[in-house]
Amino acid sequence: MSVLFAVAVVVPGIVMASETYAPEFKADLLDVHIDNKYIQSHRGRLGRWVRSGSEPLPVLARKFGVSTDEIREINDQFAGVRSMIFVPMGLEKYNGLLNEGKGRRVVKLDPRRLLWPVENPAYSSRYGIRRGGNHNGLDLACAPNTIVLAANDGVVTHSGWFGALGQAVAIRHPDGIVTWYGHNTSVFLKIGEEVRRGQAVAFSGNTGRSTGPHVHFEVRYQNIAMNPEDFMEAGLVQPGVVFRESTPMDFSNVEHESAMFDESGRRTDAPIEN
Ligand SMILES: [Zn+2]
Repeated sequence: MSVLFAVAVVVPGIVMASETYAPEFKADLLDVHIDNKYIQSHRGRLGRWVRSGSEPLPVLARKFGVSTDEIREINDQFAGVRSMIFVPMGLEKYNGLLNEGKGRRVVKLDPRRLLWPVENPAYSSRYGIRRGGNHNGLDLACAPNTIVLAANDGVVTHSGWFGALGQAVAIRHPDGIVTWYGHNTSVFLKIGEEVRRGQAVAFSGNTGRSTGPHVHFEVRYQNIAMNPEDFMEAGLVQPGVVFRESTPMDFSNVEHESAMFDESGRRTDAPIEN
């Protein structure tokens, strides 16, 4: 009798303790627009990354419904060597894409989680020990020229060749975490540029020490590589579509970012840490 009595008292005690000491923290979910191959974002404008010289500037301007000056301006007058240029799009072009159902996916994301840097990837190698040493990141197999997405808001701290990582991008986030995206075909941004989560930062590829097309994704804190999967939604499950953008947006009054860069592409109007 006395044993049963004791259990009856202790069990509610455990339940109470778990409620008290392991509360479920909830964050307001964010609507994140995920750039796709038709609509991409850069410096507060919508448009598309194209290979530099693929078409004459006036042709691109006409196709996208903007002026050649607008294209020059958002690409900093093509200062430095740039293999990719961003062509902003006019409202008519944008609305046309929305009417064709080509608006971007919009997902609800817990702001404390990183966005998967590739849509619908496959694992080819996970973080941890593998033959020949330690694998510092997550390999996400995907077709060449898949859009690589910034996993969180931040500032670009590397964009270009980086040894075995080939054409790589690094982004420093407000919480001190740095994410890396390796083996790309083309990288879009300059060091010092601000990015938003879901923004296209590169086309994926197979550059550097790589045995097949994939994105090598790394998460570092104080330069120590962590398991990226600890920062993302569990497994390869990605947040579902909340809606696809389909409402015409008036960006005639969007202010362009007027960041200042030196010759090496480093931003000079804000301190950038390495
Ligand atoms: Zn890898």
